[in-house]
Amino acid sequence: METEHVKQTDSLPLPESFQSKDNGEGPLLPAETAGKTITCKAAVAWGAKRALVIEEVQVDPPNTMEVRIKITHTSLCHTDLSFWMVEEESTFPRILGHEGAGIVESVGEGITDLMPGDHVIPFFTGECGNCVFCKSKKTNQCEKFKIDLTRRLMRSDEKTRFSIGGKPVYHFMATSTFSEYTVVDYACVAKIDPEAPLDKVCLLGCGIATGFGAVMNLTEIGQGSTVAVFGLGTVGLAVAQGASLRGASTIIGIDTNPHKFTKAKAMGVTECINPKEYEKPIQDVIRDMSNGGVDYSFECIGNTDVLYQAFFSTNEPLGLTVLLGLDTSPRKICLHPLDLFSGRRIVASILGGVKGKSQLPQLVDKFMHKELDVEEFITHTLPFSEVNKAFDLLLEGNCLRLSRNGLIGDCFEYSPTDMPHIDSETKPGLLSKEVMPTFSPINQSSKNCTQNSEFEIDVSCEEDDMGMSEVDDMLCWDEVFTKETQFPDYNGLLEMSEMAKSLESN
Ligand SMILES: [Zn+2]
Ligand SMILES: [Zn+2]
Repeated sequence: METEHVKQTDSLPLPESFQSKDNGEGPLLPAETAGKTITCKAAVAWGAKRALVIEEVQVDPPNTMEVRIKITHTSLCHTDLSFWMVEEESTFPRILGHEGAGIVESVGEGITDLMPGDHVIPFFTGECGNCVFCKSKKTNQCEKFKIDLTRRLMRSDEKTRFSIGGKPVYHFMATSTFSEYTVVDYACVAKIDPEAPLDKVCLLGCGIATGFGAVMNLTEIGQGSTVAVFGLGTVGLAVAQGASLRGASTIIGIDTNPHKFTKAKAMGVTECINPKEYEKPIQDVIRDMSNGGVDYSFECIGNTDVLYQAFFSTNEPLGLTVLLGLDTSPRKICLHPLDLFSGRRIVASILGGVKGKSQLPQLVDKFMHKELDVEEFITHTLPFSEVNKAFDLLLEGNCLRLSRNGLIGDCFEYSPTDMPHIDSETKPGLLSKEVMPTFSPINQSSKNCTQNSEFEIDVSCEEDDMGMSEVDDMLCWDEVFTKETQFPDYNGLLEMSEMAKSLESN
């Protein structure tokens, strides 16, 4: 389809036609760019870890049920960084960015809830409003538009709306906010208060919504609740803000970077601890600090070991661990089913369970009513042309959010130190069947299966065809036994791991 091209070289002025407010005489006129391909600037990632290049890109008009947005502000989140570092060349060239805000330039056929001039926040896990999951209060995972980190094309026609000289440039997280104009599905656009400052509320598209939303949507934190927050970046601080607002009496912040503690305390954290300063596992420290464990813990980093620590920081039988960080490594959490019988639970959430279309506008309203602080999260403001500097700042760990006129970033240096881990390299072919440790199934014991009852370690072979993951599970399983039992404890597990390594190398 040949479309007329309009060139937008200067980013900030909006087309006249949607600069003016509705004067009550009907809807705004469509932008003069409507229905045409727009040439504008975008930061294009051409390859893994290669500096982004500000390019002139062509942005096609929106298809049916799509919206083209003029992005006025965007911020930088750690997930952008993660996907910029992926080695798969096929994902490039790509326009990253998923925390942004802007103004609707034009809408495709069938859109009834948005029009040119509307102030909006695009978001990555859509809300169609009609499917069984959108109608459920229990999830924000829309049947059709839920987050898909591998998707690079629009859903309506499996094509991209971005190109350079006819060559495709791919989308990212259904948003691609590192472009002056972007095209998103209607389900991924929240219409917000037009008075809200876009340079601030752009942060609500990911990190803050994730932390704050998780407290509101997934927990019953209230007066007197005790909370542990692992990772004091944007998500963690937003958790602290939400928990504080709800009246939590104790909010323990855990991070290996003590530079984050001052800000954390200003945002509701009552005690900050650095795992590096303790000999014993941090989960034990937290249980000691909180009379047997906190009511809620939040993993805001995306690290399997930290999830383990967060889980065991909560109390039995009511502790709830909320997983918000995304660990993209192949590593697994080492829990035995019995750990769940303790009453401790884990839930995980994308975007804090926030339904974007219906709840992001509410978060904007909270910001407007000063119930939710956003400005505290902005540590640097840079012109869009310095997007690479923003990446550097994020990599150095010196920032929370940078905003393009703003770019905005989130960072962690938290690395757990007290959790033994069988690294994945040792897993394939870990143990030959002849020496694979197996456990007598619990239900073969006629007695109650308490920790020190009938379990046996049987080093003979199990006839089943054991998958690799089952081997991992069993090795991990040891670890849940404590020193009081006759079964391998922590050190025993390490020994087994060593044994596995030596067997493998022989
Ligand atoms: Zn839906
Ligand atoms: Zn993000």
